[in-house]
Amino acid sequence: MLSGNIKLILHFCILTAMRKWLITYLIGVLLFPSIQADEGMWLVPLIKDLNMDRMQEMGLELEAEDIYSLDNPSLKDVIGSLDYGGCTAEIISSEGLIITNHHCGVDEIQFHSSTEHDYLTNGFWAMSREEELPNPGKTISFVIRMENVTEKILGMVHLEMTEAEREAEIDKSSETLIGEAVEGTHYEAVVIPLYEGDEYYLVVMETFKDVRLVGAPPESIGRFGGDRDNWEWPRHNADFCMMRIYTGPDGTPAEFAPENIPYKPAQWLPISLSGYEQDDFSMVIGFPGQTNRYATSSGIREIKEIENRNRIKIRGEVLDLMMEDMKESDRVRIQYTAKYSRLSNYYKYSIGQNLSFDKLDVIGKRKSQEDQFTQWVSGDSAREEAYGDVLTEINSVISERTMMENALSYLEEMFLLHKAVEIFDFATVAFPFFFQELGYASEQQEINVLMKRMEDRGSDFFRNYNPQTDQKIASAMMQSYALNVEPLYYPGLFSTIHGDFDGDIIKYIDHLYRKSIFTDPSRFEKFTKKPKFKKLLKDPAFMGSFSMYQTYRQILDEYEELDDRYITARRNYVNALREMYPDSVFYPDANSSLRLSYGTVCDYQARDAVSYEYYTTLAGVMEKEDTGNRDFHIPEKLKQLFEEKNYQPYVRDNTMRVCFLTNLDTTGGNSGSPVLNAKGELIGLNFDGNWESMSGDLIYEPELQRSICVDIRYVLFIIDKFAGAHHLIQEMDINDQR
Ligand code: GLU
Repeated sequence: MLSGNIKLILHFCILTAMRKWLITYLIGVLLFPSIQADEGMWLVPLIKDLNMDRMQEMGLELEAEDIYSLDNPSLKDVIGSLDYGGCTAEIISSEGLIITNHHCGVDEIQFHSSTEHDYLTNGFWAMSREEELPNPGKTISFVIRMENVTEKILGMVHLEMTEAEREAEIDKSSETLIGEAVEGTHYEAVVIPLYEGDEYYLVVMETFKDVRLVGAPPESIGRFGGDRDNWEWPRHNADFCMMRIYTGPDGTPAEFAPENIPYKPAQWLPISLSGYEQDDFSMVIGFPGQTNRYATSSGIREIKEIENRNRIKIRGEVLDLMMEDMKESDRVRIQYTAKYSRLSNYYKYSIGQNLSFDKLDVIGKRKSQEDQFTQWVSGDSAREEAYGDVLTEINSVISERTMMENALSYLEEMFLLHKAVEIFDFATVAFPFFFQELGYASEQQEINVLMKRMEDRGSDFFRNYNPQTDQKIASAMMQSYALNVEPLYYPGLFSTIHGDFDGDIIKYIDHLYRKSIFTDPSRFEKFTKKPKFKKLLKDPAFMGSFSMYQTYRQILDEYEELDDRYITARRNYVNALREMYPDSVFYPDANSSLRLSYGTVCDYQARDAVSYEYYTTLAGVMEKEDTGNRDFHIPEKLKQLFEEKNYQPYVRDNTMRVCFLTNLDTTGGNSGSPVLNAKGELIGLNFDGNWESMSGDLIYEPELQRSICVDIRYVLFIIDKFAGAHHLIQEMDINDQR
């Protein structure tokens, strides 16, 4: 019995990837044809044909070749994706200096922080190359080329295939193409689907693996305003940090080594001090993660009522518990800062999104678009035949999977993906040993190699782990799971609680944290020194984690058939829409591939009688000071600089601008993306979206949707005048023609 389940779990990684793909609708989807003038996250190789005329008409002074070229250095070579699809960062010097958001480097800043060196609170500035700090596991990837490979990928696919057969065929062709693309190079490649899998692109990338921390302002500048200001305008924080790419002595990517040298890129971004005014052209290039602009009204309702509602409920509770302990102890505050912001960011996002769904009647708008679709279909018998049931099919899958979605979202939020409770995820560190002992490993590894890996992961984990905090959270989460998820989807550990602990969850949790080898560094070390299989079988955290994966797998099995129906129906729906609007230009949904959005710097009217300016100033930072709220503390040095108006050469008129707005179409993943002027010079960093349009990932609202950017001149002012890191300013290419 057990071994059968283990076999299933061995396939877990693949299924997780599938699930993620399904849940996030990672495949590209199309925009409704009521497309607004400059909305869209455009595939960079296509802008030459699709967007250049319009962009130049709006003021762009570059040619398409300056942005994407296979023969000469172009903008695509200086804008990279961090950690294979996290944030965006760009090169700003001839010595591999890169800049991104503070919230994109917070893991690294925290990693190097301790109560003795609290870089979160005080900031960090490497005053020499020797002081730059290595970050194990940090990567940045640049696009070498992107190629439309649809014909090669879909050549052998035909309509009679099941989704599984189709996928297997696509995987096979992708593997061949990837192999050919990287052969004899140090490059990596992926094949990505666009337009619901109607088109495919091969993306070849160069990845650098030695990326060191160079500078970060204190949180009181980088995260000024904290959660209260997050996702809102007006904004007053310098959300930036800097890192440097290092290569091997031969100039090619290499893992960290002391002899590595700073990367010498062929191109880097020039920085402009000329700023911007209302209506100036601007564009952003980066790696937006995920939009879902073509979800059906039923799909949006599902996001609202399951994903967002559960996330709000779960994270609200977790964040309060975490904060209690963070306030009590500096050690815990430093340990949990990055985890807290990771959870709180999309907690607030989900709250805002649900409010916007209602306020902007997003579901109603989508519904009336669907009515038009239905009318169009019923106007012709061939269409009726081909597409008559697609919407019904999508809607019925969504309603059939409600209970499963609910259970999956609880499992993912609490334990397996977003890890509100940490211990069950950490216990998976022993899975390789466990499977090997059972004879399920594809390749036998030496036990000491496996244990060394466990030790390494353990030392990372325990450094930022407070078992008391985790225990409190685990007790609350297990009880909430029991209340909100159908018993059918209780993991096996609930039977243990029932059988061995009289159904008392608190008693079970207490036992787990007192006894498990995964909750205590010395018990963990003892195990890695002398691993015993039987010990794992008795370990409550390990067996608890194992049972959660079993349940997860069980749900995914049930899900599979629905999933296939859903994917087919959605592909048909999108095809139908393309047929319905043959003259429209479509752009694919975001999927962490390189995109360009263009538009202008602009203000907005938030609601009746409330209009917002398009920039904020340092005076506004001072106005927000609140000595009773850590998120609104202002460093003395910054106050002094403000008093002295010591701003040159970063201002024109004695006013230090801090943040500004554009109508560029962006989303998560664009964090850290360069905001460029008409000449392609850096004028700011994109870092957030605004509260009034939190439903923007589903429907773009031209009058309301804004991207929030930090002014590069404020960033330079902080580096120069606040931190005194003049050497960094000197290595940048700053254009002071004002
Ligand atoms: N709201 C986020 C923050 O400032 C950034 C935006 C995003 O993650 O998309 O932390």
